[in-house]
Amino acid sequence: MADLDPDKIWDLIILGGGPTAIGCAIYAARFAMDILVIGKTYGGLIATTHIVENYPGITSVSGTEFVEMFRDHMDSLSIPYISDEIKSIEKAKDHFILHSFFAKFKAYTICIATGSERRKLGIPGEEKFAGRGVSYCASCDMLFYKDKVVAVIGGSDSAAKEALFLAQNVKKVYIIYRGKEIRAEPINKKRVYENDKIEIINNTNITEIKGNDKVKSIIFDNGREFEVDGVFIEIGSIPASDVVRDLGVKLNEKNEIMINRRSETNVPGIYAAGDVANAPFKQAITGVAEGVIAAYAIFDYLKKTKIEY
Ligand SMILES: Cc1cc2nc3c(=O)[nH]c(=O)nc-3n(C[C@H](O)[C@H](O)[C@H](O)COP(=O)(O)OP(=O)(O)OC[C@H]3O[C@@H](n4cnc5c(N)ncnc54)[C@H](O)[C@@H]3O)c2cc1C
Repeated sequence: MADLDPDKIWDLIILGGGPTAIGCAIYAARFAMDILVIGKTYGGLIATTHIVENYPGITSVSGTEFVEMFRDHMDSLSIPYISDEIKSIEKAKDHFILHSFFAKFKAYTICIATGSERRKLGIPGEEKFAGRGVSYCASCDMLFYKDKVVAVIGGSDSAAKEALFLAQNVKKVYIIYRGKEIRAEPINKKRVYENDKIEIINNTNITEIKGNDKVKSIIFDNGREFEVDGVFIEIGSIPASDVVRDLGVKLNEKNEIMINRRSETNVPGIYAAGDVANAPFKQAITGVAEGVIAAYAIFDYLKKTKIEY
């Protein structure tokens, strides 16, 4: 992209490169707003999943193909996108200033669609063996585990999907879950139960990951040492909401940005949507919907606050 004028004030800057940001951008562009999308990585979390089967109109697609379809749609509307990470946002008189390491951007309104970071177990060995047997992304690392034994830690639908994906390539997958029964969507739960390569160990936490140069075993909370070649941690995520902290945007106890049904935060001009916000159920489709609602609400807001709308 050509150099941007640092003094230009955009109608809307959308922070994020995932489905929520792109959903918001597509609608905002169609409302003829002057917008810029800034994302640390393009595609967001969904790009790392091997298969998406629950987005209306698309029976089955890989995560990477899915986000390419989003990109094509965005490109068809000539929506400007830049790769950068916004570190802080400050309020000026009638607009906001967004700072990255090397640049600054200005906008009358912002939609925060920064998603989340993977949650860590916080146990000995996790950090030491990251990238050497500890992974947070099956589709990124599966090929390293051909015919090996791996553990997926977690009991959500995402954990079940990761286990099913890994089972295509590895010798054995153990799902280690601290609860009584995994909480996957019934369709994925059935697939897990019917898969001979997958075994579930319920009511179990892991307390340590051990090895030498690579992972060799995990320790259960009953003291048992269990041999594995890889550990895939899928225990949820932490909202990436730090960027709005200095603006006085209200967060809840989980650090999710509090929004209303118009995707508005408590700070006029600041909107939020998707995994970073306080919805009880977080999926690509729900993030896209909240992003679209934000675009509509922002259009309305600009009409009231900017003369030329
Ligand atoms: C294993 C797994 C499988 C899943 N399967 C499905 C599925 O089948 N169907 C489904 O609908 N959902 C699925 N999900 C959930 C889905 O991935 C998320 O709900 C969705 O990606 C949320 O989109 P988002 O745009 O809100 O956030 P994200 O996808 O997390 O995107 C956030 C974006 O913001 C960027 N960002 C963060 N901070 C900054 C910053 N400071 N400055 C600039 N950019 C920033 C990130 O780089 C990223 O591009 C799955 C999740 C996992 C983990």
